[in-house]
Amino acid sequence: MELNDRLIISKPLYISEAADPQCGYCKGRKDSKNNYACESWHERYAAGGGAALRTATIGLQAELLPVQVYDELCNMGFRRSGDFVYKTDPLRNCCRMYTIRTSMAQLHASKELRSCVKRFLRHIGAGAGGHGVEALVAAEQASTRFCTRFEPARFTQEKYELFVRYQRAVHHDTGTIEPLQFNKFLCESPFPEDVVLGTAEEWAELNGWRSARPGQRFRRVGPVHECYYFDGKLIALGVSDFLPSGVSSVYFIWDPDYSKWSLGKLSALREMAIVERIGRSYYYLGYYIEDCPKMKYKAKYGGELLDVCNNQYLPLRVLEPFIEHGRFFVLDRAEPDADCSDDEAGDDPLSELPLDDRARLDPAAPLRDVVERIYGASGGAFAAANQAVEGLVDLGVEYTPQLDVGLFPSETPDLRDCLADVYQLPNVVPGLVPLWQILKILKSGEIRHINTKLMIYDTRLGRVRLVRDFHQEAKTTKRVICNVIRLIGLKNTANSLIVI
Ligand SMILES: [Zn+2]
Repeated sequence: MELNDRLIISKPLYISEAADPQCGYCKGRKDSKNNYACESWHERYAAGGGAALRTATIGLQAELLPVQVYDELCNMGFRRSGDFVYKTDPLRNCCRMYTIRTSMAQLHASKELRSCVKRFLRHIGAGAGGHGVEALVAAEQASTRFCTRFEPARFTQEKYELFVRYQRAVHHDTGTIEPLQFNKFLCESPFPEDVVLGTAEEWAELNGWRSARPGQRFRRVGPVHECYYFDGKLIALGVSDFLPSGVSSVYFIWDPDYSKWSLGKLSALREMAIVERIGRSYYYLGYYIEDCPKMKYKAKYGGELLDVCNNQYLPLRVLEPFIEHGRFFVLDRAEPDADCSDDEAGDDPLSELPLDDRARLDPAAPLRDVVERIYGASGGAFAAANQAVEGLVDLGVEYTPQLDVGLFPSETPDLRDCLADVYQLPNVVPGLVPLWQILKILKSGEIRHINTKLMIYDTRLGRVRLVRDFHQEAKTTKRVICNVIRLIGLKNTANSLIVI
């Protein structure tokens, strides 16, 4: 296996901190009805005056990550910040963060977006030639004052100075802003060096996107910086990842002198147009948070949200009633026959859903939310996980049952471990491969797929070795391997080098 095809990753981390001040979205100060993943948890905690809200992030440090694997991870709810690949625990994080993606076909350009385009056309001296995305692209092509250029995600003094101006004006950052900060946040990525740099042909092709032939598929994959120039001055910078399935927007900064140009809104429309022209399918906008005004604007571009338990995207308009008040959802078919009456439901506690082998839900058919039955205060997931833990312990994997069902570390022993040791993951985390499925992988012998493939870098011994037989590994190493499978799946785990 080529080194560039391998993932080099840390052990999975679980980071829980006080939402006040750590959550960048709610600062731990939400309306109390919006605090919890679902109604039963709200009832449980609201009665006691409410537990202090926390953030809960699961992730891993990636030293090396192939772009196509990152694409897959994005579609499992992950995002990256520099080279940290993460998602939040929807049960315990103060805010429900949903992966949102859209496409030109799903865009219903509102009056607001149309007038934003119109204004921009006036600013770049393109007259009043329409207000749609097509007019925008044509105007850019004709403009002698405005242009953009794609280039590798690399540090330059000009970009760094723009970042400083942006941070001061928009985020009121008054401290010292080091070049290193800009570099870590907007330049570093876990992708292989040759992918980051790209080839001259790739960049030339990408910079010619406006005149792409219909159906042409561009070669560029990897991180990119798109520099926006007006009269030769850098006025904005778009940072995004070009993936096989689409373009994932990472960040956008602009010169505060041009704040009236609504460049942020405009950049999303432009990037959607680019996705289409270069032959990709989706525009990934990062996370959508229903009860956060700063993130809710993303709905303006239409689109769909990822149901992390069904591993399926569903249209935002279908999901709206389920996610109101920042709630978490897991959808299932709402079948009118007796099969799904509440009595029957009692016999089938719906332990955590598998990620892959369920039939697709039809968004046009009636759907119901089964989040309470699985992840509610009396949901089936907790008992199912405990049962799985027993089986895993029998197979010599170090897991601890969750004795008391609670969401927060103060009341739940195994969660106290998560707080004390960032390498401990709760047994139930929606969107990870459930423990019962991990047990199945071990019992069925499927685990052999990692044998003689997975590599481990032992930091104490300072050497890399191959895992020859999973069952011969130490208890704690087995747990680390199982946790990696929970996060990224069996196939990706087999292609990894885990730093232990
Ligand atoms: Zn929050």
